[in-house]
Amino acid sequence: MKLFLFLLLTQANLALADNILGFDDTSSETQYALEAQLDASIDAKEMDEWLRLLSTKPHHAGSVAGKENAEFIAELLKSWGFDVEIAEYRILLPTPKTREVELVSPTQYTALLREDSITEDESTSRRETLLPPYNAFSVDGEVEAELVFVNYGRPEDYELLERHGIDVTGKIAIAKYGKTWRGIKPKLAGEKGAIGTIIYSDPADDGYGAGDVYPKGPFKHESGVQRGSVMDMPTYPGDVLTPGIGATKKAKRLKRKNAPTITKIPVVPMSHRDALPLLAAMDGAVVPAEWRGGLPITYHFGPGPARVRIKLKFNWDMITAYNVIARLEGSKYPDEWVIRGNHHDGWNHGAADPLSGLVAMLAEAKAVAALAKQGHPPLRTMIYAAWDAEEPGLIGSTEWAEHHAKELKQKTVAYLNTDGTSRGLIGIGGSHVLERFFNQVMEDVKDPRSDITIKERRRTADMVFAPTDKLKTEAKDRADLRIYPMGSGSDYTPFLQHLGIASANLGFGGEAAGGSYHTLYDTYEHYTTWGDPGLVYGATLAKVTGRAALRLANAPRLPFEFKGLADNVALYVTELKELADKMRKSTAKTNRMISDGIYAAALDPTKTLGPPPIETAVPHFNFAPLENALSRLQSAADGFDAAAKQSTGTSEEINHLLYTSERLLTRDEGIEGRSWYKHHIYAPGFYTGYGVKTIPGVREAIEQREYEVVGPQIEIAAEVLNRMSERIELLTSKLGDE
Ligand SMILES: [Zn+2]
Repeated sequence: MKLFLFLLLTQANLALADNILGFDDTSSETQYALEAQLDASIDAKEMDEWLRLLSTKPHHAGSVAGKENAEFIAELLKSWGFDVEIAEYRILLPTPKTREVELVSPTQYTALLREDSITEDESTSRRETLLPPYNAFSVDGEVEAELVFVNYGRPEDYELLERHGIDVTGKIAIAKYGKTWRGIKPKLAGEKGAIGTIIYSDPADDGYGAGDVYPKGPFKHESGVQRGSVMDMPTYPGDVLTPGIGATKKAKRLKRKNAPTITKIPVVPMSHRDALPLLAAMDGAVVPAEWRGGLPITYHFGPGPARVRIKLKFNWDMITAYNVIARLEGSKYPDEWVIRGNHHDGWNHGAADPLSGLVAMLAEAKAVAALAKQGHPPLRTMIYAAWDAEEPGLIGSTEWAEHHAKELKQKTVAYLNTDGTSRGLIGIGGSHVLERFFNQVMEDVKDPRSDITIKERRRTADMVFAPTDKLKTEAKDRADLRIYPMGSGSDYTPFLQHLGIASANLGFGGEAAGGSYHTLYDTYEHYTTWGDPGLVYGATLAKVTGRAALRLANAPRLPFEFKGLADNVALYVTELKELADKMRKSTAKTNRMISDGIYAAALDPTKTLGPPPIETAVPHFNFAPLENALSRLQSAADGFDAAAKQSTGTSEEINHLLYTSERLLTRDEGIEGRSWYKHHIYAPGFYTGYGVKTIPGVREAIEQREYEVVGPQIEIAAEVLNRMSERIELLTSKLGDE
């Protein structure tokens, strides 16, 4: 049996090594020749120059510099031969008017809420148009209350607080940045009854506790503050006033007071320099070791006696977002679109986020346009988009995607996203129908620092550094590296999760940790010293994304494949069953220990930590519909794979059936309680924010102990997979006909 499998694998690999997925012998050869030309025209020096120019000034959405950057990008794309328009949307974007945070007792301290310019980095002195640190889409408000330290402000942190008998009702929660998306912190604090939230960057996470701080090293300066949106993106991203529709001038808008994605309580970010006096003035029980940060104090839970007043007021202005949309018409299939995107707005100078990714996309676009000029236009239409207003909540991309939803669903083959990138290992997330496709792309690009491919670099690094033994073994044994399932955090979200377009997000990382993210210190100097000196990985990224985009644009038959999908769905189904089993066992065990008096006997009576609460026993769920759907998906995928190897079918009908298959993983009703999110395999977690939840309907029902919902959600997930299987079976029979 083993030998037989081995032979099959070897054969499959040989077959794939010859031709590019979706191409035959001749077209593969032509495509490889085009890719050699693509590689030759990527110029890291030119990318570096664009990076320097575009990061000269802070260029947030709504700023003069932001508009100038959009125009500069549009001019470049036009000069290379693209058909360019700037698509404008009217969006609500709050900017700070009043920001006051004051420790009023038992000691006094007024937070500076300001970052220091440093002489070693002249960009940090160009700050006339810099937005001061704030959290966009915090509500206005003035509150005064005692502080409670809530660690990272995650659900499990509140569970521990409850065991200590600490209630945040009527208090101000002070949370560390990290471990979960920032918007979850005020959302959960508000749900628990807090009246305000402070988020600060603890030096243990990305400051002096992690490494040398800027400018000596890349880590966070003591005055550094992470800006960022706290809009409730897990409900819907984009303009808060126009959910589900494009924010055109005439769009029907919600009243601001009715916009559900603005926070319920005021929230403000600060540096650890400002947080120190506040935390030092706290008392109450000492926090457990896992909650301690890197400041030279003993961390206490509170509440109080530190009492803080927060006053926040914002300019609730309507601004214009400028999306640059550049088209290169397909020579054979103009109505099939391959879309590439990267945002152009930054919270500040934005050298790493987003410009490092943007300049790679520009280099790619220039190369693709040059090929067209030399007589090799893409067969399908290619669209390069530089999005505005990503930082405040994926707004530019979401409005464009909502505005053109119908046409995009009909025509879009795939959406490929990049955002800030650095150096090290390739990271690819996305739709698993493209897993094999991206593996082949990774097999064809060399790592710039070694003589192996970027796939082998990733594989070897995973074999050494993957977080579990299981993943280390898998890295060694699985032919394809898994691409990770996507939650949210960049502009692919409207395409993948709202429209059901097969999508991916690509970048390099892992070897340039630091603390500049969304601070004044995300500058050209910081990035070219610590991020990706010489932009060598940026140039490699352009080769990766350029290959991927060109292959999708030129493939006679689109390179979608379903065995990767089936294998990943199988993993998620196993995870769900294990999750339910684990919760059932641990709940039973904990309940028993409580009723047997084990906790009462074990816990130190002089300490505040009490037993966990009794939970309802976790029932057995019927996973059979999902398992049956999975079996069908697996055999449909195998059938397609066999047929695809035999068939030369490349009809428009087959291609249309292929690229619209991802739509079948969505439902118009959306997922439970969040109708904007239509995809039933990938969604950002309601309580994790960016973090993905796979098969979210089922997973979140189990995690949130809503047991009566689990069964119906299993049925829905099964139905979605069955529709996909039906499509794959149809494709198999069509391939047989051609
Ligand atoms: Zn970004």
